[in-house]
Amino acid sequence: MKELLNDERVKKALEYIRQDDERTLKEQLEMCQIPAPSHMEKEKAEYVLKKFQEAGLENVYMDEVWNVFGTIPGTGNGPVLMLAAHTDTVFPAGTDLTVRREGNVYSCPGINDDTRAVAELLSIARAMKAAELSPQGDLIFCANVCEEGLGDLKGVKHIFAGDCGLDGFVSIDNPVTGGIVYTATGSHRYEVVFTGCGGHSFADFGLPNPIHAMGRAIAAIADFQAPVLPKTTFNVGVIQGGTSVNTISASASMLVDIRSDSHEELERLRAEMKQAVEQAVREENARWTSKEEVKAEIIMRGDRPAGTQPSGCPIVKAAWEAALLLGIEPELRDESSTDANIPISLGIPALTVGRGGREGKVHTVQEWFEPVEAWLGPQKDLLLVLGLCGLEGVTEPVLEKRNRKQ
Ligand SMILES: [Zn+2]
Repeated sequence: MKELLNDERVKKALEYIRQDDERTLKEQLEMCQIPAPSHMEKEKAEYVLKKFQEAGLENVYMDEVWNVFGTIPGTGNGPVLMLAAHTDTVFPAGTDLTVRREGNVYSCPGINDDTRAVAELLSIARAMKAAELSPQGDLIFCANVCEEGLGDLKGVKHIFAGDCGLDGFVSIDNPVTGGIVYTATGSHRYEVVFTGCGGHSFADFGLPNPIHAMGRAIAAIADFQAPVLPKTTFNVGVIQGGTSVNTISASASMLVDIRSDSHEELERLRAEMKQAVEQAVREENARWTSKEEVKAEIIMRGDRPAGTQPSGCPIVKAAWEAALLLGIEPELRDESSTDANIPISLGIPALTVGRGGREGKVHTVQEWFEPVEAWLGPQKDLLLVLGLCGLEGVTEPVLEKRNRKQ
């Protein structure tokens, strides 16, 4: 990796990224003002598509789920790498996306996660074209959809369905510039819907109540036990239901998130949750003499597979070294439910790495960004992708070509 820093084209590209810093920020600010809740990213995707074309990438296109791609073809028969960032944000349609500025700090929902990274993709692409820098294997840039929440990694699942032809995958999606996520925590997300016939709180008193049933279920879930290692967690994150204070509601629902590094723990908690829901329904129906009954339905809304790679594997080492070479402190991080879950669960080397600049309050409407040496993020990722794909006459690729149909 060190050899890369001595190459004139690499030097030129790194300098280009630094000079491009202001434009990268401008595009970041433009993009974060385009609403892009999961499943509604098309307008932002079209913006990226145009920018990929302007950057001079080849084979630029948008697929049927609105993932956008552009390629720098390799100079040889090297490994094929995808460098990705996600276009969706956690903020619902209608969120105020006005950018506010105080000194050098910019605030806007979604300004970092992951809009900053999409802007960095554009800068890396432009820098490589300007420096006439082509790796040994194809480098595919991708702005993918549906990373967040109930987006359920739809964009990346679409990419890895079937024979994707990729030998490695790197997503830029971490708040710490030197951050490296190399494990894949599995998560299950469920919507549990309780229904009943509903009625007047006074006139129809005695009917089983879906909200009461859900309360019983939540009380049971709140008492679940989970091991510290392998890290396992549960959360009732959203509850909904009810019509008015004097109505026995006809329905109530909740969203439940269960996560674990262990597939067995996930399955255990899934079974316990099912039991808790069924028990709650039985208790609520038994509480009243009415013939009417409350029912519950459990619907799976998210399924992110678990998987592991050794912390000393080549792709992790390459990311570590790329950061060190630029004076960035590398850090193994454990936010491990990311777009990289899908390739990791398939045994394809993959990472999620950090964005440049300082940031905070991610996933809240106070999300802020401060461009402090923000170019270091994309510079590091340029070195990383060149290390992984190889640069003819300079470095051999870190990634191996996987066996696949030609
Ligand atoms: Zn993200």
